[in-house]
This record gives sequence, C-alpha cells and structure tokens, in this order.
Amino acid sequence: MPPGSGLDFALTEEQELLRAEVRRFAEERLRPGLAERDRSHELPVAVLREMGEMGLLGMLVAEEYGGAGQDPLTYCLAVEEVARVCPSTAVTMSVTNSVCQWPIQRFGSDELRRRVLPELAAGAEFGGFGLTEPGSGSDAGAMQTVARRDGDDWILDGQKAWITNASIGKWFVVLARTDPAAGKRGISAFVVGREMPGFAAGAPEEKMGLRASVTGSLFFNACRVPASHLLDAEGQGLRIAFATLDHSRLGIAAQAVGIHQRALELALAYARERVQFGVPIVEHQAVRFTLARMATELAAARTLTRHAAALSERSPEAGRLASEAKLYASEAANRACFDALQIHGGNGFSEEYEIARLYRDVRVTTIYEGTSEMQRLVIARHLLAG
Ligand SMILES: Cc1cc2nc3c(=O)[nH]c(=O)nc-3n(C[C@H](O)[C@H](O)[C@H](O)COP(=O)(O)OP(=O)(O)OC[C@H]3O[C@@H](n4cnc5c(N)ncnc54)[C@H](O)[C@@H]3O)c2cc1C
Repeated sequence: MPPGSGLDFALTEEQELLRAEVRRFAEERLRPGLAERDRSHELPVAVLREMGEMGLLGMLVAEEYGGAGQDPLTYCLAVEEVARVCPSTAVTMSVTNSVCQWPIQRFGSDELRRRVLPELAAGAEFGGFGLTEPGSGSDAGAMQTVARRDGDDWILDGQKAWITNASIGKWFVVLARTDPAAGKRGISAFVVGREMPGFAAGAPEEKMGLRASVTGSLFFNACRVPASHLLDAEGQGLRIAFATLDHSRLGIAAQAVGIHQRALELALAYARERVQFGVPIVEHQAVRFTLARMATELAAARTLTRHAAALSERSPEAGRLASEAKLYASEAANRACFDALQIHGGNGFSEEYEIARLYRDVRVTTIYEGTSEMQRLVIARHLLAG
C-alpha cells in the first residue's frame, strides 16, 4: 500500500496508555543524572533492568519466549518516548529488541529461541548485531570475517567494528563468510555468545554522542559456535541482515522523532524566555518561522514512521517505507537540532544546556543502520523495480 493511501494507524487506547507510561518512566528514571552519565560515558544499567521488567527490552518477542509480544508501532512509540529523554538508552533498547531478538525469533530454530530469547527479552542480558567491520560498512558484502565448519561446530575468525552493546552484550547476531567462492551468497548468520571460546569484546569507543551507550569491536579468534546457532540456512546471511535492517530502521526513525520532539520543546521554551531587542525572541518572525518548520517536519517524520511501522509486517513495500521514514526522520531531526541550537545562541554551545547534548546525539542517526545515501539507494531500487 503506497504512503498516503488512507491506512488508519490511529493509536489504540492501550498504545496511548503505554506511550504515557513510558514518557512518565523516562522523565522520572532517565532524566535524573542525564548530563553526568553523558560526561562519564556511563550506561544506566539499573534503569535498563527496570525497563526489562516493564517488558521494554523484549517488545517484539512472542510471549511464549518471554517477550511482550507487541506490534512494531507500539515498539516505535516506546522508543520515541525513551529517545525524547535519553537517546543513548533508546539505541541500547532498539539494538537488543530489533537487530538481535527480532532475527533470532524470525530465523532461529525453536530450540535456539528457547535458549536465547527469554533472558534477552527479560532484559537480564543484552543483545547485539555484528555486521560492520573495519573494512566494510555500507558495502556489507565485502566482509572478511569467515566461518568454517568443524564437525558439529563452526569456527569464526575475524573482527566486527562499531557494535552497539559490544562489551555488555551476551548474545550477538554475527554475519560471516561461509563460502568465500559464493560472494554475497556465501554469507551466513550466527548467534554468538560472549561465553563461547575465542570470543572477545573490545573497549568502548570514545564517541561524540550517545555516550551513555556502549559501542565497540568484537573479535573472533577461532571462536567455536555450535551448528545449532546458525540462523536459517547457510548462505542466507545477507538476506537475513537486510530483512533485519528493513525492520529495525523503524526504531532509528522513532529515535530521531523522539530527539526532534525534545529539540522543538527546548527551542520553544528558550525562545519564549530569552529577551532581545526588548521582546522575547519568539516575537521575531524569523524565530517563529524556524519553530513552525521544526513542528511541520516533526509531524511529517512521525507520520512516516508510524505509517511504516503499522505496515511493516503486512506490506511488500515495508522495506521502502522504513527506509523513507529513517531517511526523512533522521535528516529532519538533525535540522531540528541545528535550528534549536541556533535559537539558543551562545548558550546552545554550552554543555549546561540540554540542546548541546542532543545536537551531538542526533548526528549518528543519518549514519547507522545504513547511511542516508544507502537509504536513497534502497528507495530508488524499489522505485526502479516497480
Ligand atoms: C554509534 C554507532 C553505533 C553502531 N552500531 C552498529 C551495530 O550495532 N552493528 C553494526 O553492524 N554496525 C553498527 N554501526 C556501524 C554503522 O552501521 C556504519 O558506520 C554505517 O553502516 C556506515 O558504514 P561506514 O562507517 O563503514 O561508512 P562507509 O560505508 O565507509 O561510508 C562512508 C561514506 O561514503 C558513503 N558511501 C559509501 N558507499 C556509497 C555509495 N555506493 N554511494 C554513495 N555514497 C556511498 C556513505 O554514505 C558515507 O557517507 C554503528 C555505528 C555507530 C557510529
């Protein structure tokens, strides 16, 4: 169904209640200490455990595997509300939910799901996704990590880079080349555990933003992975990775919408308060026009995101819709943070003001889970195939 075709995705009463509950929780539990955690690069572990108890870290997993069994739209609402307060926690949440648990539920055997999903869905452990390598980002098919069969196991060798939850995760969906001669069709997906021999996680990166989340490398040194930890069949790895990203980009779009919402709130409050030329700066038309554009783009980003989420498991166009939502929402949120900081003048350049952190946090949304350029290529590919 094409965008704008009249699909009804108004929120249900349950979705509104959950959204309000997550907003309250984020204000009460994530807002305190936000700036300190950003400064000290500290993950809010205790709050994440509480989020696990609320079902927020296993939203997309069926109840029989210990999850909350929520739909993608409800998941996006929760990510948006968490991101409005703490974008770092939103990415920790979105990675364990969507790039780790979602493909395991979708492509793993029943035995594997029962072994791995309950502890992830409860938030007792975190999950991650290892696609990017030092030499392959956008060109994922050029990965160098290899896996060779050895009896009932696979032996993995290689390195993944920029992996969210690297040093705190227990289970990772990892892509490796199982048939080097088969090119992109020779890549397979595995569920690798941190306790497996030959696995190591590197030190967290020093990031410019999202500092209260953890990102680092994964190393596989003859890492022994049971054959039962292969997702789907050999050679299906890139298909699984792209299907996963088609779905998970919704979470990044929702994260961008949450950040955009907060940037608008901050800009509006500052513009009402700050007096220049004898009037609050909100009285100057240029400032009003900026606020109006931020609000309009926020509405568009939110609508695209919710529309894509509502259709994500029902439409053959789901991948395109998620890419459109991610592309637009991340770029609009970047514009909004730029403009909100501009409205703050010199104060916006001070870490005393929340907008400075948001400006740093929002930057990566046009980069991870596929850069804006990659989203444009995906969207164009759909157009040309139609
Ligand atoms: C905070 C953070 C968390 C991350 N978490 C994860 C994670 O959990 N798991 C994971 O696997 N990865 C993760 N990543 C990696 C992320 O997905 C990659 O950084 C991203 O896909 C881009 O890859 P790259 O950095 O290698 O850039 P490159 O692919 O080297 O791209 C560099 C530039 O070239 C452009 N470019 C490349 N090819 C083309 C082309 N064909 N046409 C036009 N332009 C092109 C890109 O758009 C970009 O602007 C994370 C990254 C960050 C920063």
